Amino acid sequence: MAMRIFFLHDYPVIKSGYDLAKLLPEIETLAEAKKAKAKLIRRLSKGNRKSRRLAKKLRRCKKRHRCWSDMCQVCKRLFGRWYGAQVIPLFEGQDILLVTLVPEKNSRPPGELNLLEPLKMKGALSKKFALPGLEKAIVIGGIDISFNVHSDNAWTPRWQPHFHLIVAGISKKDLWAVLRPRYKKSIEIPRPTHSKSVTDLPEAVSYTFKSFFCRRVSYIDENGEKQARSVSLKVHEMEEAAVFGDTIKITDRLFLRNVRHYGKRLVITSKNSSRNTAQGRKYRFRGHKKGKE
Ligand SMILES: [Zn+2]
Repeated sequence: MAMRIFFLHDYPVIKSGYDLAKLLPEIETLAEAKKAKAKLIRRLSKGNRKSRRLAKKLRRCKKRHRCWSDMCQVCKRLFGRWYGAQVIPLFEGQDILLVTLVPEKNSRPPGELNLLEPLKMKGALSKKFALPGLEKAIVIGGIDISFNVHSDNAWTPRWQPHFHLIVAGISKKDLWAVLRPRYKKSIEIPRPTHSKSVTDLPEAVSYTFKSFFCRRVSYIDENGEKQARSVSLKVHEMEEAAVFGDTIKITDRLFLRNVRHYGKRLVITSKNSSRNTAQGRKYRFRGHKKGKE
C-alpha cells in the first residue's frame, strides 16, 4: 500500500540556517534515529499481528520512499526539521510564549491509548482559541503524549496527551485570563497550564513538536515539593505508543491557529501579526552533529 499522503508527500527542503539538527546539539542524529527505529522494529516483530505489520512497514521505509508513520523515528526526525525550519523564521525577533496545556479529559488508562482522537483534541483547543480575547493569538505546536506515573503510586498510571505551543500576538495576562479557568487542576495534574517567555527560539520550537514520547515520573522531593522527571518509555509502553502512532498521520498532532500551510510552507494568516519580516538572519551553529536527511 502506498504511504499515507499528507502535505509533505514530497521531500522537504530545509534551509540550513534554520535546521534544528544543526542548531541544537541535543537533537538526535540520523544514526541515533535509525538505531531507535531498529530497536522498535525488533520489539514489534515479536508482538501481535498489528505490531508485526507495523514492523514490516517501518522496515520498508527507505530514503525517497518514506513511510511518514508517526511512529517512524526517521520520518519524525525529518518532519521535525522541516517544522523547525518553517516555524523559526515566522517568530524571529518577536516576544513569544512557550505554553503547555494539559487537558485532563484526554487522559487514557494503559491499554487505551488507541481511543485517543487527536483531531477532536485539536478541535476542542481551536474552540478555546476562538473565544473572545484570544482570536488574534498566533499558535503553532503539537500534541505530545506522556505516560505519567507517580513514584509513590499516589494515583493510577495513565497516558496523558497534552499540548506544547508557541503563542504570539497576545500577552501572557490576556491568554491566561481566558484559558486558565478552563483547565482543571487535579492530584494527577497539579499544573495543567503553564508558560514562559521564549529566550531560545530554536530550542522552544523543537520542544513544541517532540519526536518521541516519554514516561513522566512525578515525585515529592526532600523539601516536600512536587517534581517530575522524564525517562524513556518501558518497552510495552513503547509498543502501545507505536501501534497508536501508526494509526495517525504526523500532521494529526500538528496544531495551527492563524497559521496555514501552503504546500510545504507555513504562513501566518492573521492580519494583526506583528511579524518581523527581516530575512536572512542566521543562527549560530551550536552543534557539530551532521544533519543529513
Ligand atoms: Zn518512515
